Amino acid sequence: MNSRMNPAPNSLYLADTHELSNLSTELCDYNMYTQDAALREAVQREGGQWAEGELSEFGQMTGSADYLELGNLANKFQPEFDTHDRFGNRVDLVKFHPSYHQLMKTSIEHGLHASPWTAPRAGAHVARAAKSFLHGQVEAGHGCPITMTFAAVPALRLQSDLASVWEPKVTARVYDPRNVPAEQKKGVTIGMAMTEKQGGSDVRTNSTRAYPVGTGGPGQAYELVGHKYFVSAPMCDAFLVLAQAPGGLSCFLLPRWRPDGSKNPMQVLRLKKKMGNASNASSETELRGALAWMVGEEGRGVRNIIEMVSMTRFDCMIGSSAGMRMAASQALHHCSVRSAFGQVLNQQPLMQNVLADLALESEAATTLTMRMARAMDNRFEEQEDLLVRLVTAVGKYWICKRTPNHAYEAMECIGGSGVMEDSMMPRLYREAPVNTIWEGSGNVQCLDVLRALSKTPAVVDAFFAEVNQARGAQALLDRHIAALATDLKDLADFEYRARDVVDRMALALQASLLVRHAPAFVSDAFCESRLGQVGQHNYGTLPRGVDAGAIIARATPRIARA
Ligand SMILES: Cc1cc2nc3c(=O)[nH]c(=O)nc-3n(C[C@H](O)[C@H](O)[C@H](O)COP(=O)(O)OP(=O)(O)OC[C@H]3O[C@@H](n4cnc5c(N)ncnc54)[C@H](O)[C@@H]3O)c2cc1C
Repeated sequence: MNSRMNPAPNSLYLADTHELSNLSTELCDYNMYTQDAALREAVQREGGQWAEGELSEFGQMTGSADYLELGNLANKFQPEFDTHDRFGNRVDLVKFHPSYHQLMKTSIEHGLHASPWTAPRAGAHVARAAKSFLHGQVEAGHGCPITMTFAAVPALRLQSDLASVWEPKVTARVYDPRNVPAEQKKGVTIGMAMTEKQGGSDVRTNSTRAYPVGTGGPGQAYELVGHKYFVSAPMCDAFLVLAQAPGGLSCFLLPRWRPDGSKNPMQVLRLKKKMGNASNASSETELRGALAWMVGEEGRGVRNIIEMVSMTRFDCMIGSSAGMRMAASQALHHCSVRSAFGQVLNQQPLMQNVLADLALESEAATTLTMRMARAMDNRFEEQEDLLVRLVTAVGKYWICKRTPNHAYEAMECIGGSGVMEDSMMPRLYREAPVNTIWEGSGNVQCLDVLRALSKTPAVVDAFFAEVNQARGAQALLDRHIAALATDLKDLADFEYRARDVVDRMALALQASLLVRHAPAFVSDAFCESRLGQVGQHNYGTLPRGVDAGAIIARATPRIARA
């Protein structure tokens, strides 16, 4: 008999190879809301205090292991696409994993797609932003159709006859993923299709043509012929689309199905092969005489759809802030458990510098985002409306652009296990650049800031009225604001300098908010590292004197069972 196949009782063949020690644990089963001091304080400060109870309940759910797993599953089992059913009928059907549908259902049942429209009140945008921020930490991809549905409402309202039919379904807290006409549904979702092959930033080059079916004009039916090269969430029930009408580029509402129950010929050619954002299907389409109704005035398409785009840009701020919070939480948690060279990582000075810096960036992003949520709630005040006009571009540019490197640094804090696909970090890392590119890439945001400064000079006063509220409290910030005031007086060659100036505007906004509202150990560290140091700021380069331990303690989420 072969002795290797029948080892003796004490054989080394069965021996334990090693003892387990110093292993990290999953960050789960914690209250994502109550364990986030920066978010909680912002909600209370910016007018959402009435939502504390529901946010705490929501945060308990989003931080639970089972719920976090939905995010993993929705990305692991990616959407699949069929053009036709097996009998030959055109269906344009994308099939998703049940976890994706669960994330959509929760979002819609909690009003992430509509609550400020259906229940407007002081703090409605703040409460919705906080919930989106929590849900975005679980999974980002499904946020795309939720955001587009949310953002479609102001644009739809430009056409009251269409809005009266569609808005009740768009805002209903009913998720119905069936591939059937909107007429058969109580709740619908809305997508957005502007980008064509020849240009996404410059949508005025759109070549899709719109032919009036009858008289033409606002609210009237047209047939659209052309293509749309990026159509995310193609299972949406309708899309806001730009096309060239006889009177110029116009906005249209294009349903997936025609009212007679036939398939509207916006045909999906294939799904995009994306490096991130995997749970969200993005498609390439052709429009072969697709029925659509004109929204708003003919020839005013860009202006009309921009109502939608400014909302989606704000949601990019929320999404990237959420990504940074989750990345920081993952790193902070891991380093509170893991030791190296005989000491827990978060007790070691150099790691403390990195962790505190990641936490500062995350808090600054959360704080600016929530401040803008309050501005959204108060657009009837001129000052707040001007801030929305200017700071959605500044904030979208800055926060989204700070996220990819932040994700990578957080991954490095975790070490090798942070690189593994069964960790959340690769997903956060691959997701991070997407927000910077869609809804107007970085340069386009900077050019939009220039447009606002030139066409609506009152935004400059609104900006300084906001940042000057911290004047006199922090010498570095005072100097920073004074330098900006000089730069903004002179818009010559601004286009060339725009990134530099917009960077500094974003820092002024974040620093001003932190000086006014955050503990001094946070705001001083932020100002000294971002305003006081010369050269490009790399994470982990906080200067001497910063209380890194206090920043880490403030930001580290605590797991109740630990
Ligand atoms: C995952 C994903 C999903 C998407 N989903 C949708 C969707 O659902 N609907 C939709 O309509 N679109 C969608 N898009 C498209 C997206 O909005 C565009 O990719 C984006 O607007 C940029 O357009 P583009 O790709 O044509 O790049 P371009 O317009 O060619 O721009 C390329 C680069 O040039 C820069 N640039 C442009 N103009 C200037 C200038 N004047 N000065 C300096 N720099 C400039 C831009 O900032 C960008 O960095 C999606 C994109 C991605 C990645």
